[in-house]
Amino acid sequence: MNVFTLKRRAVMLSAVVGASSMFVAAGGGIANAQATLTSGNAGHYRFRIGEISATVLSDGVIGGPPKVYASDAPEAELQEVLRQAFLPTDHMKLNLNTLLIETGGRRILIEAGAGGTMGPNGGRIFHNLAAIGLGPEDIDAVVISHTHPDHVGNLRTADGSKAFPRATVFLPKADWDFFVRNDPDLSYMPVPEDFRVRFGAAIKRSLEPVTKDVELYQAGAEIVPGLTTIVASGHTPGMATFLVHSGNDQLLLTADLAYHPVVNVDNPWRPGPDRDKETALASRHRIFDRAAADRIPVLGFHYPFPGLGRMLKTDGGYAWVPAGWQF
Ligand SMILES: [Zn+2]
Repeated sequence: MNVFTLKRRAVMLSAVVGASSMFVAAGGGIANAQATLTSGNAGHYRFRIGEISATVLSDGVIGGPPKVYASDAPEAELQEVLRQAFLPTDHMKLNLNTLLIETGGRRILIEAGAGGTMGPNGGRIFHNLAAIGLGPEDIDAVVISHTHPDHVGNLRTADGSKAFPRATVFLPKADWDFFVRNDPDLSYMPVPEDFRVRFGAAIKRSLEPVTKDVELYQAGAEIVPGLTTIVASGHTPGMATFLVHSGNDQLLLTADLAYHPVVNVDNPWRPGPDRDKETALASRHRIFDRAAADRIPVLGFHYPFPGLGRMLKTDGGYAWVPAGWQF
């Protein structure tokens, strides 16, 4: 089923918010933002999937205590694993690797990124879009794996309008029902109560501008030819992963089946924010097994930028093998 319906709308220039103002809205000062955005390394990474042009666009980073992302790890073992990976033991940094695909004359963004909803280091997607010559008004569709704030935060501008003014936004229906239509019980999340309240509110607030014309999909649906959603529930009720395919080429986007490969792939620890931990584990194994068996290139939304590599099946589980940089 192709559920893409392209809706052309008048572009109101006032609704188009440029890179610098979004970044400031995300929490940085103007001078700070300009310094960061003009002197940093590349935040975009281009490659091809058959006939489809693909670009990883970084929205920056978020993070938190490592134990949140490896909830069942014995503390001493977790500390040792992080030390051996040369990672900080008190804070885990997670990337925000959104993917722009250009196919059939449409520009489709997969995941919107966090914006300012999860700390001051998100919201870079607009700068990175500008760096490849595009603005938010050039995006025809935004396809979301699940409605956590770090995946939908950029859908709303600082003044409450649509950040991607022409884009049709696709969301999994089960997440819409759970997080937006109802008041979800988030007590399963291993974070302080005030964080949970802000987390739940950030989802509703980010989605407000698209409420009237959002397209709700059932995982398994094809969004456009070449972009298929795959059932991967557990992390949230509706989370989907994605297969982008063209000719013999494929890319599997694993969304939040894992947060960081060191703790959730190379080690089997479970992400604390998984709502249904058993279903999430089954989804993780099913999709990682497919990636390993078919040697499909993988994009991990939260993996170190640009998040591309392959999943290797080992005796005890899996190993993440990052892809080499393409020039
Ligand atoms: Zn996430």
